[in-house]
Amino acid sequence: MAEMFIGGRPAAFPMLERLPVVNPADGTVIDTVPLAGPEEVVAAAQAAYDAFPAWWATPAGKRGEILAHAAAAILAQADELAPLLTAEQGKPVREARLEIRRCAETLEHYAGLAKNIRGGYVPDLAAGAYGLITKRPLGVVAAIVPWNFPTTLLANKLGPGLVTGNTFVAKPAETTPLTTLRLAAIMHEAGLPAGVVNVVTGLGPDVGTALVDHPLVRKVAFTGSTPTGKGIMARAAATLKRSTLELGGSDPMIVCDDAEIDAAVSAASVGRFFNCGQACLAIKRLYLFANIAEQFVDKLVGKVDRLVVGPGTRPGVTLGPVHSARQLQVLEAQVADAVASGATALRGARRPLGDGLGDGYFYEPTLLLEPAHTSRVATEEVFGPVLPIWRVRDLDEAIRLANSSPFGLGSSCWTRDLGRANEAIARLEAGYTWINAAPIVYDELPFGGWKQSGYGKEHGVEALDYYMESKAVVVKSVPVAQGAMGTVGNA
Ligand code: NAD
Repeated sequence: MAEMFIGGRPAAFPMLERLPVVNPADGTVIDTVPLAGPEEVVAAAQAAYDAFPAWWATPAGKRGEILAHAAAAILAQADELAPLLTAEQGKPVREARLEIRRCAETLEHYAGLAKNIRGGYVPDLAAGAYGLITKRPLGVVAAIVPWNFPTTLLANKLGPGLVTGNTFVAKPAETTPLTTLRLAAIMHEAGLPAGVVNVVTGLGPDVGTALVDHPLVRKVAFTGSTPTGKGIMARAAATLKRSTLELGGSDPMIVCDDAEIDAAVSAASVGRFFNCGQACLAIKRLYLFANIAEQFVDKLVGKVDRLVVGPGTRPGVTLGPVHSARQLQVLEAQVADAVASGATALRGARRPLGDGLGDGYFYEPTLLLEPAHTSRVATEEVFGPVLPIWRVRDLDEAIRLANSSPFGLGSSCWTRDLGRANEAIARLEAGYTWINAAPIVYDELPFGGWKQSGYGKEHGVEALDYYMESKAVVVKSVPVAQGAMGTVGNA
């Protein structure tokens, strides 16, 4: 039985009800976690608050050193963490290993920035005066994350937050708490002081809300759906807490008629079907110039036919289950709506039959040609292995359709023409634009959505600023008091 991690150790609360953790590949219960409420949140927030002064007082370089040890320890235990992630999340073990590696890389990246946290200095502000911009950590941060990449999404917050001196209460999704609990324990064993990272488990509306309300929590670093993000933003207003909101996306990919077709087809396939299509920056809408559409779609169908659906532990599987029964129901309703709107299902649009898949939440990789632009797959986020495809006349039409979504997370455009590329970069309304590249996020570049995909940045040096308060300081010289030197000398 897994327990919450508070103050550097597993904290048992025997009176609490427990929540089953289910393997999405077969519906079996693999463990249970406590269903925490406001009281347990108080204990975790207090532990983080108590740990804060000493962690802040630790030199930044030393904090970086500890974080680097923690990253190395996570990587060293990838053999244990990856199967646990597959069991609770569903993704193929190969993808789970990749996720654990990316989690460690992000922590290591921020460990490397520890000695480069900078403030500012403004000379000659006024007669005899100069200005300083000092920085300090916020204090206790609540990190609330979803289930699609439980470890990397947490690392995106812990990396910049810890290295700048903050302490954390992490709240994993109710369905993926196990890897997060292990991660916190491993980081503590690697040298992170007790209370610097705490983990509480339970339902979002209970535990998440209690964290957002808690007076000791100074910032909410949230990744999740847009509706939840909006609720958190409204609620955080009561205490004017800092917040960063990394929310949903419906990323468009535009393929012009001068694009390198094979590379673009591979990017579309990986970009849509990696993690069973359950990525915020997955390619969720495909716009093809009409004169290359047939050739492109034929090649994409070939790729899709080579995907292997099955449990993440089965060798050769490239598409695991959808994460939950609820998720599967939403997906089926969105596909039915697309078909009713006039789409042709070129592949999939159903649950796979046989081969022991009946108890899991599996869905075939699905290609939908020309759903209505008003259908749910065009206007909502589609979180699963379903790709709607539209033919467009030219780049102008493609960009107008791409921008018609309420989301603005990522976007991509494939062309050999510099003019077209520059137009896409300038006009696509999104926090990230990939030109001739698959949607991969780099630690070096700031990541964060526009429009209803949220606000604030993770990754990059930019993320550091979202975990610090700055203070403007004016220092004015005054004449040295007569006899002051003499006083020191006579003491
Ligand atoms: P969700 O919003 O339902 O849940 C996310 C987290 O919020 C969970 O830990 C949940 O327990 C918690 N939560 C739920 N209700 C809450 C409340 N009232 N107060 C506080 N916390 C609450 O998200 P989901 O559907 O599980 O996750 C998928 C979504 O996350 C998709 O929309 C996806 O695009 C988005 N996402 C965004 C990014 C990004 O970086 N922009 C990355 C990954 C996923």
